Amino acid sequence: MKVVSRSKVVYSFSLKNSPVEYVKPGELIMIETEDALGGQIRSENYLLEKIDWSMVNGATGPIFVEGAETGDTLAVDILDVKTADHGVIVVVPKNGVLSSKNFNASVKIVKIRDGFAIFDRVRVKTRPMIGTIGVSPEAGEIPTGSLGRHGGNMDVKKLTAGTRLYLPVFVEGALFAAGDIHALQADGELCVSSVEVAGEVLLRFSLIKNKTPEWPILETHDTFEILACGESLNEAAAIATESAVVALMREHGWSFEEAYMFGSIAVDLEINQAVDPKKGVRAVIPKEYITLNSLIK
Ligand code: CA
Repeated sequence: MKVVSRSKVVYSFSLKNSPVEYVKPGELIMIETEDALGGQIRSENYLLEKIDWSMVNGATGPIFVEGAETGDTLAVDILDVKTADHGVIVVVPKNGVLSSKNFNASVKIVKIRDGFAIFDRVRVKTRPMIGTIGVSPEAGEIPTGSLGRHGGNMDVKKLTAGTRLYLPVFVEGALFAAGDIHALQADGELCVSSVEVAGEVLLRFSLIKNKTPEWPILETHDTFEILACGESLNEAAAIATESAVVALMREHGWSFEEAYMFGSIAVDLEINQAVDPKKGVRAVIPKEYITLNSLIK
């Protein structure tokens, strides 16, 4: 099995980043990831003013997937997400959902034992997930801290082992990268960080040729989820909704009006990204009402 070291870190999704590994569809690949704070914080006495923000929210890669071409879909099977035995949460003044409040910079080290994160005296079951995962855009570069049609810093708590992510391919080889593992995270990641942790992610890629999704699509056991984003939560919700309505029209041959009505019955809007400049909302459609074919064309 190929292993990519966590030292192979990038801070943007871009064609300018040379591949650090080549894989074929179906091959297993393990990528090691540094925590989203670049491993800089080792103790609760750490002074956040000292942090080098240029080393934050990196992703391991890029990985060149052989046979991937513009206009294809890269399917990423997340087979396993392992974490280190401790992570770190920070609050940073002027950040998070309550960015307008006055509060102090603060660091908490969270031990991870037997599948539980220990926060003060409260034990919370871990659910390791990938915060940042994506591919190179067609041109230019997108910081790994941002999100978009290429994926990126989506912070979707359901991007866990056992799920599959479909990403549009914009460049030859896709140039995939991932990082920013959280031992667990709630939707919205309120304070701007979760249990940021170093990890190891086991992946397998496959390709769907000549078809591409408009937005990244997450497949769980019982749902397809359209991972949209926008400049505000309202805009992201509208984009996710429209994408779901169009997919339902395609699936059932419904008019816009019918598909829009059905959305009220069956499609959940969930917030994933509330604390970065771009906001992420996902439209969650139960598999009984939609097939992949209607989401990728
Ligand atoms: Ca993140």
